[in-house]
Amino acid sequence: MNNNNAPLLTLDKVSKSYGHGQAVNNVSLAIRENEFFALLGPSGSGKSTLLRMLAGFETPTSGSIFLDGRDISPIPPNRRPLNLMFQSYALFPTMNVRDNIAYGLEMERLPKDEIAQRVDAMLATAQLQEFASRRPDQLSGGQRQRVALARALIKRPRVLLLDEPLGALDKKLREKMQLELKRLQNEIGITFIVVTHDQEEALVMADRMAVLKDGQVSQCGTPTELYENPRNRFVADFIGVSNLIEGTRLPGNLIEAGGQTLRIEPTPEEVSGQIALALRPERLQVLGPTTRTCDNEVNGQVVEVAYHGLDTNLHVSTPVSGKPLIVRVSSSEHEFSSFMTGMPIRLGWNSQHARVLSR
Ligand code: ADP
Ligand code: MG
Repeated sequence: MNNNNAPLLTLDKVSKSYGHGQAVNNVSLAIRENEFFALLGPSGSGKSTLLRMLAGFETPTSGSIFLDGRDISPIPPNRRPLNLMFQSYALFPTMNVRDNIAYGLEMERLPKDEIAQRVDAMLATAQLQEFASRRPDQLSGGQRQRVALARALIKRPRVLLLDEPLGALDKKLREKMQLELKRLQNEIGITFIVVTHDQEEALVMADRMAVLKDGQVSQCGTPTELYENPRNRFVADFIGVSNLIEGTRLPGNLIEAGGQTLRIEPTPEEVSGQIALALRPERLQVLGPTTRTCDNEVNGQVVEVAYHGLDTNLHVSTPVSGKPLIVRVSSSEHEFSSFMTGMPIRLGWNSQHARVLSR
């Protein structure tokens, strides 16, 4: 067994190149037991390649992968305690749900009554009891997804690898299945590594996540860490909505942007030259005549009013950024109809709420 401090799975400087291109470039990660870990990145960033190397379907060009401290490179895919669930689910079309789920245990030639017991338990966990005798073509997309999960989980792998598991589902069902996956992972208590290109999905599901860009880990941390403290422009932009204000560092905790001097959080003088401020839409305030105090204020003009129900996003052109700043105002706090395209507006934020990015 694993002691609590040692990671379950360690990737040490793992790279993979195909001919000219480098799909995965020097990735080091440590994934803990029972963690729900997400690999997040745009298409082509190397997520699937990384997962296939973990499963053993690809061999790293360099670097090593350790499970419980042991190098797993000599272990063939079918003997690794890591199970990859394919996006296509690959259910057997002529078998019913119960037989699909039992298949892996049948192959292991386990005693009949043990198989029956484990399948019953898994049908209950995956909430599939009432569908046990249906064939895959008699199920909805979400139900098929649950069968595929049940089939992978019943073999009790140490780690379940999922490549865009919800990619084929529509938005409503995706959101439901995100919570379902989290519940299953919690209940069964095994490590999940889920690949997704959907940042919201990663934020909802993951205990920790790694953001990949061009085969490299751009940043790794909890959803809150990545949202609150993005380390570079890519992560700030990829996760959630960020306003990026590009500027030039001035002496003191100041920058110059579009002819205006803005205050920044206490930042070492070494961070100099072209830097950016990342500012979340909910951190910007619309300043009225009876102004709350902010240590930064800019004048602008509303160029778009986007109503989202619970809140409204105002797009505001200002001198400090080439792109309009997005400001989230809550509909309960402001009368939505009081904002109109073209109207002048004053925005403010506190320097402690803007992250300084040098990369
Ligand atoms: P993602 O899953 O993040 O979309 P992939 O891991 O599939 O990214 O691909 C990463 C990069 O590696 C891409 O540029 C892709 O074209 C390339 N690649 C992936 N698999 C192969 C392969 N078998 N042969 C050649 N290039 C590949
Ligand atoms: Mg992929």
